[in-house]
Amino acid sequence: MEKLYYDSPYMKEFEAKVVSCIKGKKGYEVVLDRTAFYPEGGGQPADTGVLGGVRVTDVHERDGVIVHSTEGPLPEGDTVTGTIDWERRFAHMQQHSGEHLVSGLIHRHFGYDNVGFHMGENEVTIDFNGLIEWDELMRIEEEANAIIWENREIRAYFPPADELAAMDYRSKKELTGDVRIVRIPGGDTCACCGTHVRLTGEIGLVKFISMIHYKGGVRIAMLSGKKAVADYEKRRGQVHRISTELSAKPDEVAEAVEKLKQENGELSARISALYQELIAERTERMAVSDKNIVLIEQEFDGLRLRQLANRVLEEKKAKIILALSGIKGGFLYVIGSQSEDVRPLAKELNGLLNGRGGGSMQMAQGTYYTERKLLCAILKEKGFSGPEPYTGTGAQSLSSYAL
Ligand SMILES: [Zn+2]
Repeated sequence: MEKLYYDSPYMKEFEAKVVSCIKGKKGYEVVLDRTAFYPEGGGQPADTGVLGGVRVTDVHERDGVIVHSTEGPLPEGDTVTGTIDWERRFAHMQQHSGEHLVSGLIHRHFGYDNVGFHMGENEVTIDFNGLIEWDELMRIEEEANAIIWENREIRAYFPPADELAAMDYRSKKELTGDVRIVRIPGGDTCACCGTHVRLTGEIGLVKFISMIHYKGGVRIAMLSGKKAVADYEKRRGQVHRISTELSAKPDEVAEAVEKLKQENGELSARISALYQELIAERTERMAVSDKNIVLIEQEFDGLRLRQLANRVLEEKKAKIILALSGIKGGFLYVIGSQSEDVRPLAKELNGLLNGRGGGSMQMAQGTYYTERKLLCAILKEKGFSGPEPYTGTGAQSLSSYAL
């Protein structure tokens, strides 16, 4: 089994003989005498592509044998042509070489090891076993990009035993036998089985995206090359949309959002105050009563309904107050009393009005999923009435409350 991707990472097309093909769990499992398809490993995802006219969806190495998962069968003994999805593979090479460069620099400056590496669709994450500050990371990014733009030659090879023995290289584990080394002059020396670009210039750029504390160290998200540029465009698009929405310059959107949040807070406070005034006015217009009273409001949420019910009870304008607010498909309710245990009635009304919810002896709340007509009929039957109007000076109509 010849691994063509080791010496020829730029090979996009190759010919090979089908050694075996068996039906797998999903599709087929094909083994060739040689392959340029990279099997998942060392943090780098597997290649995809076409082999003898059928799609290759995954590639794995099992006990030293590279197994291609294909959508269709291939005749054993046939010579087939393999084509790698090159754009995807090259993006992996950019990400992988970029990761080595950054890991090597962080190792040199801080002594930390790369203890986890994942190449995702949208970002590459690297875990380091020590803490770094963001501005320190920016200096690493600057140094990495300087090395990229100097276009240094990257070498991936199996050094002879004596050369390897004298070499100081990064490695996840103790290695024996042939060790493949990937070297970026002045940047990094690391044991690796992945595919890399020939020149640092092909990485294009590295850009750190985020950093979080993770398992006593940090998890850094980054992108290289074309994916970094695509990410830039995605973010530029977001900023552009926000800047248009807020009529703010792109580099002033954060201030504009802060201002908007502050205005929103002030509006919320003003709305709260207006609700308090509304609740006070509603309650004021009601006569003192020892009856079971129902109030039907619009646009009152649970909190406002509770405030309304409390106010009515404080001013003794009902024995039991049922405050309702229309919502789509039903009504929010709050039922309360200062003298009665409202739980049995709340439970009974839930049963009659397809309700959900509950509460304490003094107050229960929830939702009735029912129509107004049925609601009014049942409440009348249960002895509820609309509020009696206060008849003193300035008394106004209460017709809007009528059941
Ligand atoms: Zn590697």
